Amino acid sequence: MRPSAHPLRSLLSQTYSTSATPSPDVHTVVIGAGVVGLAIARQLVQHIPVTSSSSTTTNVLIIEQEASYGQSTSARNSEVIHAGLYYPPGSLKAKTCVQGKALLYDYCESRGIPHARLGKLIVAKDDAQVRVSE
Ligand SMILES: Cc1cc2nc3c(=O)[nH]c(=O)nc-3n(C[C@H](O)[C@H](O)[C@H](O)COP(=O)(O)OP(=O)(O)OC[C@H]3O[C@@H](n4cnc5c(N)ncnc54)[C@H](O)[C@@H]3O)c2cc1C
Repeated sequence: MRPSAHPLRSLLSQTYSTSATPSPDVHTVVIGAGVVGLAIARQLVQHIPVTSSSSTTTNVLIIEQEASYGQSTSARNSEVIHAGLYYPPGSLKAKTCVQGKALLYDYCESRGIPHARLGKLIVAKDDAQVRVSE
């Protein structure tokens, strides 16, 4: 799909007044156009169809307080694709981090988004940390 034709782009390009009456065509409202809000909206649009008498589609309205998307934390972080090392082994955070890392690499590669797999050098400072690292 051409970027300009993507349903999220057309929603993001619109300006909404807080006094506007919500359209009955909107199925879900996402507040915040950071990486989390955009990812949720994308999943809804692509994978959660809403069937009505006339169509099967999902209309998501993204409300963002800034002038555009990604103006907050999502555009000002360290840009590290984390490996999941810092979370307790087997925890939900560790599992989703490892899964998300693979998905993010696939996403970047399939769309030609520049990224680097730099690896990570971790130095154990004592015997206890050596045991953990092993
Ligand atoms: C210093 C720092 C470094 C980081 N480094 C990394 C890293 O290297 N790797 C990594 O994976 N993660 C990193 N993170 C974490 C990562 O950046 C965040 O987890 C992620 O960006 C959060 O995305 P978000 O969409 O939840 O929040 P945000 O990007 O903050 O988006 C929330 C959006 O909601 C909007 N909003 C809020 N309230 C309202 C409202 N009432 N009405 C309308 N809009 C509203 C805001 O304007 C904003 O655009 C870092 C975080 C920080 C702070």
